[in-house]
Amino acid sequence: MGSIRIAIVGVGKIAKDQHVPSIAGNPDFALVATASRHGKVEGVPSFPDIESLLENVKDLDAVALCMPPGPRYSAALTALRAGKHVLLEKPPGATVSEVDDLVAEAARKRVSLFATWHSRFAGGVAQAKDWLAGKTIRSVRIDWKEDVRKWHPGQAWIWEPGGFGVFDPGINALSIVTDILPMPIHLTSARLQFPENRAQPIAAELVFADADGPDRASATFDWRQTGPQTWDIHVSTDNGELLLRSGGDKLLIDGQTVVDSGDAEYAGIYWRFAELIAARESDVDLRPLRHVADAFMIGRHEFVEPFED
Ligand code: NAP
Repeated sequence: MGSIRIAIVGVGKIAKDQHVPSIAGNPDFALVATASRHGKVEGVPSFPDIESLLENVKDLDAVALCMPPGPRYSAALTALRAGKHVLLEKPPGATVSEVDDLVAEAARKRVSLFATWHSRFAGGVAQAKDWLAGKTIRSVRIDWKEDVRKWHPGQAWIWEPGGFGVFDPGINALSIVTDILPMPIHLTSARLQFPENRAQPIAAELVFADADGPDRASATFDWRQTGPQTWDIHVSTDNGELLLRSGGDKLLIDGQTVVDSGDAEYAGIYWRFAELIAARESDVDLRPLRHVADAFMIGRHEFVEPFED
């Protein structure tokens, strides 16, 4: 049984698919409870909300907050104030400022706050970053196209304010590029397409510049892709071409496959969380969230046909 006693808060798809097995597979952690209005994990004590969890499980060390971003701030603040280490699913919050508040609270309490970006733990990402270090980037092209009906069936929250719409998957691409590129980029224009009956976009086109010039990077996020799904990042440099495929699991350099890995993102997240807790450090990188905020700020809004699940 691991020494870090952790509870999952918000037991839905990602908690069941990834957090429960990753905690079970990590010798540093023991899943001792859950808090969720409906969701439960078999064999694990469950509570309806975080307050009753904290009241009843006195020797809890950490919580993994797996609910949608909207209600995450309040749960995170409650946990930090109670002196618990906190893991935030992505996106870490519904606004940039609320996550800044959490960073300050974690520092005050001397506990670890980990804003996870699971795509950064995909098998090809670390090697992509190493390969790009020191190179001159000519252009970056991101294509993140998937079928919302397949990946988010019936998730009403994702279409509501604070639910991010197509930026829920798109922010994963932004978490990778902000990690691997050797220079910062900033958004210069965006086009967001909103279904007439929804509060969040179903597609987005983004253009980024860097300090050396405009149009350095571009991205298409689209939730209307049926058939094969696309999660690709292509980086053209002064010394070769890099392609991350399948959300970062595969890495090709000049057309040759150099990494072809399976899905180990969440195992990596829990190794990192244990490391942060041992060092009493936090890891909160808000660059992907800022790019999304910028897109909502300067993006041109267009309305497209209504979307029904
Ligand atoms: P989900 O299936 O809807 O589960 C989230 C759970 O949070 C719900 O089942 C619900 O459980 C609880 N919850 C608490 N407050 C809620 C509220 N106001 N509205 C809706 N649910 C609420 O969502 P998910 O796919 O697991 O995604 C959760 C987070 O993980 C999101 O930030 C998402 O971006 C991230 N994520 C998801 C995936 C994926 O493939 N699905 C992958 C990576 C990351 P109770 O009803 O029991 O309270």
